[in-house]
Amino acid sequence: MKLKDILLEMNVGDIKENEEMKSHTTYKVGGVCDLFVTPSSIDNLISLLKKLRELDVKYRIIGNGSNVIVSSKRFKGVIINLCKLNKLEINEETICVEAGYSLIKLTNICANNNLAGLEFASGIPGNVGGAIYMNAGAYKSDMSNILESVTFIDNKLNLKTLKTSELGFGYRKSIFMDNDYVIVSCIIKLEKGNKDEIMKLMNDRRQRRIESQPLEYPSAGSVFRNPSDTIFSGKLIEDLGLKGYSIGGAKVSEKHANFIVNYNNATAEDIKNLIDYIKEKVKEKYNIDLKVEQEFVNF
Ligand SMILES: Cc1cc2nc3c(=O)[nH]c(=O)nc-3n(C[C@H](O)[C@H](O)[C@H](O)COP(=O)(O)OP(=O)(O)OC[C@H]3O[C@@H](n4cnc5c(N)ncnc54)[C@H](O)[C@@H]3O)c2cc1C
Repeated sequence: MKLKDILLEMNVGDIKENEEMKSHTTYKVGGVCDLFVTPSSIDNLISLLKKLRELDVKYRIIGNGSNVIVSSKRFKGVIINLCKLNKLEINEETICVEAGYSLIKLTNICANNNLAGLEFASGIPGNVGGAIYMNAGAYKSDMSNILESVTFIDNKLNLKTLKTSELGFGYRKSIFMDNDYVIVSCIIKLEKGNKDEIMKLMNDRRQRRIESQPLEYPSAGSVFRNPSDTIFSGKLIEDLGLKGYSIGGAKVSEKHANFIVNYNNATAEDIKNLIDYIKEKVKEKYNIDLKVEQEFVNF
């Protein structure tokens, strides 16, 4: 029996065959995957993972695809998208939200409920799960500052909840990067605030992003981590004169040197080649090993 038929019989959720990953990444790159499955509940997700393990099928979780570079090769396995895990419950200053919920949508809901603390995330186009995985952040704050706990599926496929202090958070770092866990939901703790003030802060920051980031092109945000609090990757790249430098359809943004944009039907390999070129030039000139913030998938 074909895997698709097995999963259809199990009724785990929506299943697409030969799905183009470029439709699911903000870079708009990525080849076809065998199956693209969107589980409709946490129970279905667990059943799906059990079956894939049992059949030894490769899989990868994807959130909103805003921090991944998916290769042009066929992904021989299952891509699991969690966008249907999107339940949200607000109880005073405490929010319980599932991993597939859009972070930007959540920031607007928090503002409308007079809840302050999540404003930093108003321009981060990921889902809650992807943001926790990356410990996404901006403006000197990040997910670890507002999370109380995270519930995930562990390696034995059991649901487990850990407090924020137990999740190994650091600068764009969490234990989820070193384990095969799947984040399913979290508890966020915010503070009472004033809707107008929260909206104003979010709008100011949105304006700053529009002015400083190439949002008119497909990208996945900052490419490299900053080597330290005082050394900025964008500045190093700009000082090397690499703004506007391109390989294939991928280009170092003229607006922000730490962004690579897909300006002309780039492939993931164009982006990777450009990343390697930048790393080489930065190493040559400054003897610094730049670390990529984005994740390579299926290379
Ligand atoms: C224009 C733009 C601006 C950006 N600005 C910022 C910024 O200011 N700060 C910042 O930190 N980032 C920024 N980003 C990058 C990106 O939006 C964040 O890293 C975001 O948190 C990624 O979430 P995602 O859902 O898109 O994750 P994806 O890109 O889909 O996945 C990222 C990684 O997380 C894993 N993953 C996703 N969901 C789960 C889950 N439920 N369980 C386990 N693993 C999971 C995936 O397997 C993958 O390895 C920006 C991106 C863009 C395009």
